[in-house]
Amino acid sequence: MSVMLDKLAAQESKRVLGDDELAERAERLSAQYFDGRARPNSVRWVTNQNTRWGSCTPSEGSIRLSHRLQGMPEYVVDYVLLHELAHLLVPGHGPRFWRLLEAYPRTERARGYLEGVVAADRLPHLPDARGD
Ligand SMILES: [Zn+2]
Repeated sequence: MSVMLDKLAAQESKRVLGDDELAERAERLSAQYFDGRARPNSVRWVTNQNTRWGSCTPSEGSIRLSHRLQGMPEYVVDYVLLHELAHLLVPGHGPRFWRLLEAYPRTERARGYLEGVVAADRLPHLPDARGD
């Protein structure tokens, strides 16, 4: 029984947000951290984006997140969403941009997580060490 509940809990935490939920989440994050000033016209997952976690086209107000973020912790997905929302307000990565993101308390932690994912991808896949 508890094993089953654990499995359900694991599935629940890895549940993938749909595009509508993603848009709602973006709206909530914008309200919470940017006084609602970042208003995207569309927010969606894309599968053709393997070198970037997210991207934004300010002229269209569109935000795209890489499907590779699916299954990562919520605070990481929220960070990437906020990052792209911030680009609707400030292009580029200058001091004004990072000042906006300072409002989000887990920016550094999320950036560290994503750097770790990139580093792990580059590790050679060693055979299992069995400790003998
Ligand atoms: Zn950026």
